[in-house]
Amino acid sequence: MSAGGNGDSGYETIIGLEIHVELDTVSKMFCGCPTRFGEDPNTQVCPVCLGLPGALPVANWKAIEYTIKSGLALSCEIAEFTQFHRKNYFYPDMAKNYQISQYDLPICTGGHLDVETDDVSRRVGITRVHLEEDTGKLIHVGGEGRIAGADYSIVDFNRSGIPLMEIVTEPDIRSPEEARAFMAKLRSILLSLGVSDCSMEQGSMRCDANLSLRPAGDTELGVKTEVKNMNSFRALVRALAFEVERQTKVLQAGETVEQETRHFDAAKNITTSLRTKEYAHDYRYFPEPDLVPIKVERAIVADMAGKLPELPDARRMRFIESIGLGAHEAHLLSDTKPMGDFFEECVDGGADPKAAANWILGELSMHLNATGLEIEDCAVTPKHLTQLLKLLDEGTISGKIAKAVFEEMYETGKLPGVIVDEKGMTQISDSDEIGRVVDAVLAENPKAVEELKAGKDRAIGFLVGQVMRLTKGRANPQMVNDLIKERL
Ligand code: ZN
Ligand code: MN
Repeated sequence: MSAGGNGDSGYETIIGLEIHVELDTVSKMFCGCPTRFGEDPNTQVCPVCLGLPGALPVANWKAIEYTIKSGLALSCEIAEFTQFHRKNYFYPDMAKNYQISQYDLPICTGGHLDVETDDVSRRVGITRVHLEEDTGKLIHVGGEGRIAGADYSIVDFNRSGIPLMEIVTEPDIRSPEEARAFMAKLRSILLSLGVSDCSMEQGSMRCDANLSLRPAGDTELGVKTEVKNMNSFRALVRALAFEVERQTKVLQAGETVEQETRHFDAAKNITTSLRTKEYAHDYRYFPEPDLVPIKVERAIVADMAGKLPELPDARRMRFIESIGLGAHEAHLLSDTKPMGDFFEECVDGGADPKAAANWILGELSMHLNATGLEIEDCAVTPKHLTQLLKLLDEGTISGKIAKAVFEEMYETGKLPGVIVDEKGMTQISDSDEIGRVVDAVLAENPKAVEELKAGKDRAIGFLVGQVMRLTKGRANPQMVNDLIKERL
């Protein structure tokens, strides 16, 4: 039953996630430097984000606002009083030797997110959502791109000081698949809020997981390992599934799991030990003396709560209740914002909701998968699909032709009306014109005609097929059927 592959092992999987999300603000957390991704190394830096002595930080209110919005969307309590702390540690990607983060007064606490897998919905607690700054990026040259075995390392401080929101869950997740579903839903919410681009590949959404096993029915937690370096949903599921299997084997052999940090190797699909002795780090947190604490006015929070956009769950319910979609279609279409927006634009443009849903989840999704494109980047727009459905609905083109037109518009971006005109693909619904072809086909196929007369219904399919072939798929199939029956 558990997607972790330990369903029959007698162990229960316990997972908690720690997610870091880079907020999509124009400037950094504590200085005015831009936050654009992919610029030349060390071109978006200043004394503050380089950590030069004497440089003074100023908090970016936009980032605080984005964190409050995220907290509200996750049903958190928003602190009335919040404060930044220094988290002291040394690493070459962080020039100050401390990260400005939050400690005992985070912006948001105590929320939850309901996660669906296989029609089971479970509530995952959100411990806290706090705000901190990102570090610079170390690039290890030579070896396998990891610090071990590298010839030397260089550091790019463009990322240093980008606002980073950290979301910590309770250990409420019960399988790798549920962890994936949690991440997907969280991503979809944050995208709806417009607070981050949530790109796991570019590192603007990063996830670490704590995973342990315990005998099913036990209430005490087992020894956990922390898994890092999962850069996609797929990597997350694979890394956690591997870890479930590994810990299961350790426990079944009567040994104990070692508390450690493990690194996911995406090429080999395994996790390897990164640091064995895990100390309780002493970060010597203390209040950041260069920043004033923040009083969050209730009126501001209430105003933000009132202005939250529609979130995926609410959209899904609306698709079911006011548009009349089935639960499964509604779930798929509200899962990501661009997909839901595409669907709604079709419906607003006059498309039949069920037909639009079928085409988006069928033909369009198939083509997107095959070409590796996102819905917002492909040549087919809601206008294209709406026009195609109209041509189909009016009987101008047949269902079969519609698929050919779709193919062409997906490739060229031409509007379906233009394609149909250019190629003369309109459906023939003229009974005289179809009748002439039917007569010819019946005359040429006496054997099939005899079979049909003898009650072999299969023969009609053959005859219809012949008419469709001669009309290059343009004859209205229902009329062909009717006319053949009429003639006999
Ligand atoms: Zn700066
Ligand atoms: Mn952090």
